[in-house]
Order: sequence, then C-alpha cells, then structure tokens
Amino acid sequence: MTTLINHFINGESVAPSENDYLESTNPATLDVLYEFARGSEKDVERAVDAADDAFRNPAWAGLTQTQRGHLLRKLGDVIGENADELARLESLDNGKLLREMKGQLKGVPEYLYYYGGLADKIQGSQIPANSLDIINFTQREPLGVVGAITPWNSPLTLTISKLAPALAAGNTLVIKPSEYTSRTIVRLAELAYEAGFPAGVVNVVTGLGGEAGAALVSNHKLAKISFTGSTATGSSIAAQTASRFIGSTLELGGKSPNIVFEDANVANAAVGVIAGIFAAAGQTCIAGSRVFAHRSVYDELVERVTERASTIIIGDPLEDETELGPLAFKSQLEKVESYVGIGVDEGATLRYGGKRPDVGLPGYFFEPTVLTETNNDMRVCQEEIFGPVAAIMPFDTEEEVLRLANDTEYGLAAGVWTSNLQRAMRMSQKLDAGTIWLNTYRAMSPMSPRQGFKNSGVGIEHGLESINEYTRLKSVWINTNEDPVADPFILRS
Ligand code: NAD
Repeated sequence: MTTLINHFINGESVAPSENDYLESTNPATLDVLYEFARGSEKDVERAVDAADDAFRNPAWAGLTQTQRGHLLRKLGDVIGENADELARLESLDNGKLLREMKGQLKGVPEYLYYYGGLADKIQGSQIPANSLDIINFTQREPLGVVGAITPWNSPLTLTISKLAPALAAGNTLVIKPSEYTSRTIVRLAELAYEAGFPAGVVNVVTGLGGEAGAALVSNHKLAKISFTGSTATGSSIAAQTASRFIGSTLELGGKSPNIVFEDANVANAAVGVIAGIFAAAGQTCIAGSRVFAHRSVYDELVERVTERASTIIIGDPLEDETELGPLAFKSQLEKVESYVGIGVDEGATLRYGGKRPDVGLPGYFFEPTVLTETNNDMRVCQEEIFGPVAAIMPFDTEEEVLRLANDTEYGLAAGVWTSNLQRAMRMSQKLDAGTIWLNTYRAMSPMSPRQGFKNSGVGIEHGLESINEYTRLKSVWINTNEDPVADPFILRS
C-alpha cells in the first residue's frame, strides 16, 4: 500500500477534508513514491485559523526573543540529525543528485542558527524628534500569519529561507509546498513540533497551486505572502496582495548572464559556466543560461564546455558517480525539449546534446545541451527554460556585453570572469541583477542578502535585511512634559 502524506495542522497530521490524494512520482524511475493530501479551501482555512490562534497564544506570543532563538537553533539540530533521510527524500522527489541534496541539507541548519541568533537582536531605534520633552522610538513587530509558497527545485532550502526569519520575528506560518515535493516540507513541520514549537506555529497544507495555493493567497487572515516560484505566478500573487494592502516577498525567475572576458582564466570560467547551467540539470533560478564569451576566447570556451558536457555522467541521482539526474517531471522535460527545437528553428546550432539519452531508466532524462550561433534576441535567450541548455554567444567589447547582459526582463544574478579588478568592479556596478558573482558562480549563504531585480522579484531573502520582510515598524511617541497642553489646533512635533 502507498504511503499517505497528510497535511500538518495545529500540531497534528490532518487528512484532507475531501479525502482526496494525489500521487508523487520518482522522476528517475517513474515509481509512485507516496500519495499526498489534495488541499482544499476548507483545509487552508483550518490551517490559517490554527496559525492565527497560535500567533496570539501565550505559548508562542509569550516567549521571549531569546527563547524563540533557542527553538530555532534546536530545530537546526534536529534537522541536522535527520539530514541524510531528508536529503534522500528530496532526491527521490525532485530527481536532483543525492550529493547535491546532502550538500543543501548541510546548509539548512545554518539558516536556523543564523536567524536563531538574530531573534533577540531585532530592534528599533531612538529618534531625536527635535524636542527635549519627547521620547520617540521605533519597534519592530511580527506581522501575524505568513503564507509561504515554495517550488520543487530546492524544497527545504527555499522553505527554510522563509521559515527561519519569519519565526525569528515571532510570526506563525502556513506553508504550501510544491505539488512535486510535499514530503520533506510536511516532515519539516513535524520536526518543528517535535523540537518544541507550539502547535499551530508551523502548518503545512499540501496540494495543487491552483487549489490549495490559490486558497492560501486569497485567505483574508493572512498578513503576508512569501513566494518563490515562476514570474507568472508571482505576478498574479502580487496583484492580489496589492489589492488587499498586504506585503509580499517574491523570489522569481531568471535568465542570468555568465560573462567570460578575454583576460579570464578560461579553464576556471568553463567550470563556472558548467556549474551555472548543468548543475541541478539547469533547474535553478540562478542558472547561467546566457553565456557571453569574448570573441578571442569563444572557441576555446565552447570547446571546453562541450568537451565536459560529453563526459557528464547521466543517471540515477542516488548514485554517487552521477552528475546529471532527470528533470523533475514530464511537462518540464517536454518544455526543455521544445525549447531546443525553438532555438534550432530560430537559427541556433545544436553543438551538443538536445536529446533524451538512454540511461537504462524510464525517467525524464535530458542531455546537457549547448547551443551556439545564438543571439540575445532569440526566445532561447530571453525566456527561462529551466533545464540544462546553454546558449553561448560571442562579444567584442565591454560596453556591448553589458548592454546584452542587461537586455532581459529578468535581473536575478550575473557571473563575470576576468582578471582585471577595475573591470570586475565596473561590471558589478553596472549589471542590473541582485547578485553578482566575480570569478565564481552559485555561491550562497544565509548571511548574504539576495533579491531579484526587474521581473525576478520584490523583497529580500537571507541576511539581516530579510528580518524586515517579516516585521512592521511602529513609531512610539512619549511626551515627558507635564505642562498643560497649549493649543489643541496646532500640530505638535
Ligand atoms: P510555480 O510558480 O509553478 O509554482 C511555485 C509554487 O506556487 C508551487 O507551490 C505551486 O503549487 C504554487 N502555485 C502555482 N500556481 C499558484 C497560484 N495560482 N496561486 C498560488 N500558488 C500557486 O513555479 P515552479 O515551476 O514550482 O518553480 C520554478 C520557478 O521558480 C522558476 O521560474 C524558478 O526560476 C523559480 N525559482 C526562483 C527562485 C528565486 O530565489 N528567485 C528560487 C527557485 C526557483
């Protein structure tokens, strides 16, 4: 019998109100892994009500900031103890390498330690207010119930990026994970409860985006939505939250440039290009999918990247030697495949890959793919493919590559490979992206803020600044002067 994964609401496992379940499939083997609850509006309402009660309940609201910090650090320890199991469950669900998921799971507790340490350092300031009689100070308060909606590509890392600052600031949560990766997020809520978070503080409702997700976004008790996913879904969420005057943090898509100058160490740059587009089978928001190489090193870079692409070991993501697992689900495979066709129809040359390889497993495998003779106006250079497809283009001058790199609706990240420090600094100032990597790619830390510019998002995740996304600022005025108040019709400062 298949395992059933229920919602986790108010400290307990809760079956879906309609008793309806959906299947989750291993994208490498196509085996059914488990069935998970298909959340309805009623289920979402139950979870939000539980989170709303928990927000005011002294069991949570009465904790000191330091006690909240302890709980976060405890959860970090508990996740660390369960890291191997969680990494394996994520790899089975989304097909990313077990090695990669183990690496991510090592990092997940770090977010909880970092924000656990911050919980008792969330503070306001004292404002002079031009008066000796007035004390004016600010304080940061939690918002209330935060709705967190996350994608499938790095389920726990992306969920913890929201959960850790939200809880450090004293909010409660209802999480709607991707329908492709529900399991570890339900487990996360169970572990949070086991670690000592009171019932109702962390709730999970599983299900489809258009059902459970949409019901969460439209629930009027929510104080905020924190969303990571596609720009199309983010845009519709932004419209709804704006109409209700509640905040949203939106981490969206990308089409990031990875730029190799003539003075770069080309061997290192080639590794950075490969990491940028073939790691995680290109299913990362920060994928360096547009590669710009100076004309003088273009042939060498294409050669190095294609050569390495031809030796990439494709196969079962659970195996240690595998370097490229399957895409996460069927429509993702079809989408990636169709983009290769679109590129070739637009005039690109298929330099390597472009097919479904035979790896002895029935899953959604796709070869690492290199397109050359592309130009930045092509759809393969403007639209997010979210797969292992690199478009490599030559350029002649710094001004030209800067213009091309910024000529996109997205602004998530950019890589630059050069040995010229002045050039590196110029590029970091002029590139229109929230994260710039110089002579590296894919580096990330809970300490370092990240945000998408343009259509890649609104608001900040990670770092000190992320706390502000989960708090509201209140200004408090105290009059210390006991003299009679003079003219009631004059605004006082
Ligand atoms: P998606 O937008 O299809 O789904 C994301 C989440 O939103 C899922 O949980 C889904 O069920 C839910 N959802 C879908 N429709 C909804 C609706 N109408 N109302 C409420 N919720 C809804 O995205 P995806 O395919 O799961 O993820 C891939 C996308 O995520 C890519 O565009 C990628 O670039 C982006 N992403 C961004 C970041 C970042 O930090 N900027 C990180 C990872 C992924």
